[in-house]
Amino acid sequence: MIGHPIGHSKSPIIHNYWIAKYERAGLYEAIDIAPDDLHDGVQGLIKDGYAGFNATIPHKEALLTLCDTLDPIAKSCGAVNTVVIRDGYLHGYNTDAFGFLENIRAYKPDFDFTAGPAVVLGAGGAARAIIAGLINENAPIILTNRTREKAEILAREITQNAGQGGAVTIVDWKDRHNALSGVNVLVNTTSLGMVGQAALEIALDQLPQTALVTDIVYSPLETDLLKRAKERGHPIVTGIGMLLHQARPGFEKWHGVMPDVSKFLEDLVLK
Ligand code: NAP
Repeated sequence: MIGHPIGHSKSPIIHNYWIAKYERAGLYEAIDIAPDDLHDGVQGLIKDGYAGFNATIPHKEALLTLCDTLDPIAKSCGAVNTVVIRDGYLHGYNTDAFGFLENIRAYKPDFDFTAGPAVVLGAGGAARAIIAGLINENAPIILTNRTREKAEILAREITQNAGQGGAVTIVDWKDRHNALSGVNVLVNTTSLGMVGQAALEIALDQLPQTALVTDIVYSPLETDLLKRAKERGHPIVTGIGMLLHQARPGFEKWHGVMPDVSKFLEDLVLK
């Protein structure tokens, strides 16, 4: 895992657990690489014989130009979080969309993303991947963000990259409460509700009882949004599964086995 800073990363816990569980040779390390050192740092990883790496803030966008090939999702969300090194070439992927979708499918394998609009709160880095994933599933998307301009840029870039226009409708942040009628999924991708951050204020009155509510914030595991949704009888999905599932494709590419996600691993990461 490369990033800057890198101390907070949970990825070494996940990957080293799987390396032991599936009896693979190897070690997963967190390496701090400053933004100006990215090119040399990555060349060093190639020279040292690494099979690949994950990337976090602030390298996800810069890796787009360093990679020799990119998967379609990395292209459409404009960020790389997983790299395979083969014969000195860098192959870039983005697995956050997979992580988000698999987390919901772990709750309901046949979840129908086309059954109604998905409301996405927030237009930051995580929202980009989630919206790319939802577009791939043909879900109509309603996007709302405190800074409307960022939502507009995201929607424009992502629909252009995905080759599909018109799939994202933008709603002003102040009108978010009224965007929930007839909605299939509500997802919070803002940092609101996270420990140490302000609360997420959103009135759920108009949300249909059947709508699934998910929050990608996982600290606390059950955010205020999820608590309120649960009280109203909505199905809820916590955010920790996205973190665990996004790690799976990288492990499969480096070690040749698709690892599973378990309650044990979830508890290990949340400890
Ligand atoms: P980011 O790029 O910094 O985006 C932050 C988002 O939160 C932006 O949409 C921002 O709106 C919004 N926001 C922040 N403060 C706000 C406020 N006071 N009122 C309204 N909106 C506010 O962050 P990110 O990388 O997308 O991550 C967002 C959250 O998701 C973090 O808590 C992160 O830990 C979590 N996350 C979880 C996973 C997972 O696997 N479960 C993966 C990635 C991220 P503006 O555009 O107006 O600033």
